Amino acid sequence: MKIFTTRHELQQYLLQCRQKGETIGLVPTMGALHEGHLSLLALARRQSGVSVCSIFVNPTQFTNPDDLQNYPRPIEADIAKLTEAGCDVLFNPGVNEMYAANEQWHIDLGELEHLLEGKFRPGHYQGVTQVVFKLFDIVKPDFAFFGQKDYQQVLVIAKMVQLINLPVKLVMVPISREAEGLAMSSRNIHLSAEDRQHALVLSKALAWVKDYFSGNNLQQVTAEAVAMINAEPGVTLEYFEIADGETLLPATEANPHLVALVAAQVGKTRLIDNMIIR
Ligand code: AMP
Repeated sequence: MKIFTTRHELQQYLLQCRQKGETIGLVPTMGALHEGHLSLLALARRQSGVSVCSIFVNPTQFTNPDDLQNYPRPIEADIAKLTEAGCDVLFNPGVNEMYAANEQWHIDLGELEHLLEGKFRPGHYQGVTQVVFKLFDIVKPDFAFFGQKDYQQVLVIAKMVQLINLPVKLVMVPISREAEGLAMSSRNIHLSAEDRQHALVLSKALAWVKDYFSGNNLQQVTAEAVAMINAEPGVTLEYFEIADGETLLPATEANPHLVALVAAQVGKTRLIDNMIIR
């Protein structure tokens, strides 16, 4: 695997690949890689000639300085996992390589920016679009792979791609889960054994809603899922909503695409999860 820490060297290399007619698949990550990330990479390898994984803990998308500081950064272990998984290129820049001082960014994402995650992490999606735009600009991927785990992020990036008319095809990859149902996340390492047990209520509530949604009991299944989560010790619910799968606006039974999304604090760790209901 080739490892680049500067934009210039990465671009020189990718230019050669493109001249040979290779397509490029990009998997943007913040590292602390797990099987979820590797499933994105596996798809990138299958769909493109050159797979590029980026590892960059992007400061502009963090709304909590402690969260940024405590974010895990096991770069040696990540390099070993990517090598074993057959990744072609790792881009691992420092903050100064990605950002000039006092850089400004704003894109009008409409209501999508302020719903759900946006309400609890104001400014988060401006930071996400800022860094993903930069990565697209540097790598110029034909395909970019994002996890359904961050469902709202996928919609936000799709909106940016549409607004700026970027020549990249987005691919959304299903959520990888632990055997008991917990969605894999780099933040799971912060969970104590007890937290981990309590956290299972999130995927259980989502699966329950999927099973018991009959087509005309949306409010009832939502209320029961909320009650289920609120009854779990050590879990503080931020939101549980069934939303329109395309806009994330609150849904009614008439919406053809429905997704249930949840965020909660489990111990000291904030977790998110979602499930497509219809
Ligand atoms: P992150 O490193 O958390 O920024 O995640 C990098 C990419 O991996 C994002 O597109 C995430 O949605 C995706 N991802 C994270 N966790 C999972 C998971 N459990 N299953 C599938 N994709 C995931």
